[in-house]
Amino acid sequence: MRVLGVGEVLWDVFPQRELLGGAPLNFCANTVRLGHRASLITAVANDKRGRAALTEMADLGLDTSLVRVVSEPATGVAIVTTTPQGDHSFEIPRPAAFDELDSSPETMQRATAFEPDWFYFGTLLQTNAHAEQLTHDLARKLGGVKCFYDMNLRPGCWNMPLIERLCAVADVLKLNEFEAQTLGERIGLRSERFSLESFAAQWADSYGIESICITLGAAGCLIYMNGNVSLVPGFPVQVEDTVGAGDAFAAAFLHGYHLRWPALQIGRFANAVGSLVASRAGATPEWSVEECCALASISTGEIYAAHR
Ligand code: ADP
Repeated sequence: MRVLGVGEVLWDVFPQRELLGGAPLNFCANTVRLGHRASLITAVANDKRGRAALTEMADLGLDTSLVRVVSEPATGVAIVTTTPQGDHSFEIPRPAAFDELDSSPETMQRATAFEPDWFYFGTLLQTNAHAEQLTHDLARKLGGVKCFYDMNLRPGCWNMPLIERLCAVADVLKLNEFEAQTLGERIGLRSERFSLESFAAQWADSYGIESICITLGAAGCLIYMNGNVSLVPGFPVQVEDTVGAGDAFAAAFLHGYHLRWPALQIGRFANAVGSLVASRAGATPEWSVEECCALASISTGEIYAAHR
């Protein structure tokens, strides 16, 4: 499978250290770990953080040929603040280098030549009208590509018309419980009668989405697929840091979905990957297919059948 992503690459700046992140980067890195090819359309600056980002992306096995290097603004950062309860909040200065995507005919041509099976995008970058236009152009021009939309709503970085336009081109949508409730309220599902099941069915129907996956943290996930809803329990782990768990989950979900696994198997595998990442420090910690398969009771043979 080949995955083309468009989105932000940034450094998560913690008080003591900086780690390369951004949901699209984390997602692509995890698809590579699952044996696929991934390329990311993004931009960094020709500064220390930008050069380090390029090196690290290559080390993670990503194709960096669609990364634009600009002179300014500076390479993106997310300033991370951690509450005493361990929750993280992120402040992302804009514009950042990742706002300066290259939408030249050469980039479109190279993106097409990559022949992706899936096109991945989130929401954060799309508040930049230029980036949203590029996303729609790519979704239209990449012949036969399917779109994976990982919603990831961040305060101040989304609005309802934007969400609706992106959902309209999505084949698969991943979001979390909080995001589903937020959208449910916006479409008038009254809170006392709200259920994730009815939200997923209604939302999929409204936007012509094939499958919706709602992550539930430690409780696992809910998958709407082929008109049916499956609730798939999570795997209990000692949590180290949940940053990146959703992105790894999304990559594992897409892996199983692409292979046309049944919903329960997709959910078990994606929960296993998500829980392992939650049990380790950093957004893209080491994990192996073998340990996820052991946790989810799936044979590794089924995983490797995905290689193309
Ligand atoms: P996001 O909000 O980014 O979608 P979540 O925090 O819901 O991410 O986590 C994604 C997935 O990672 C969950 O669906 C689950 O499979 C796994 N996960 C997250 N937190 C935990 C946890 N505390 N224990 C076990 N698994 C977890």
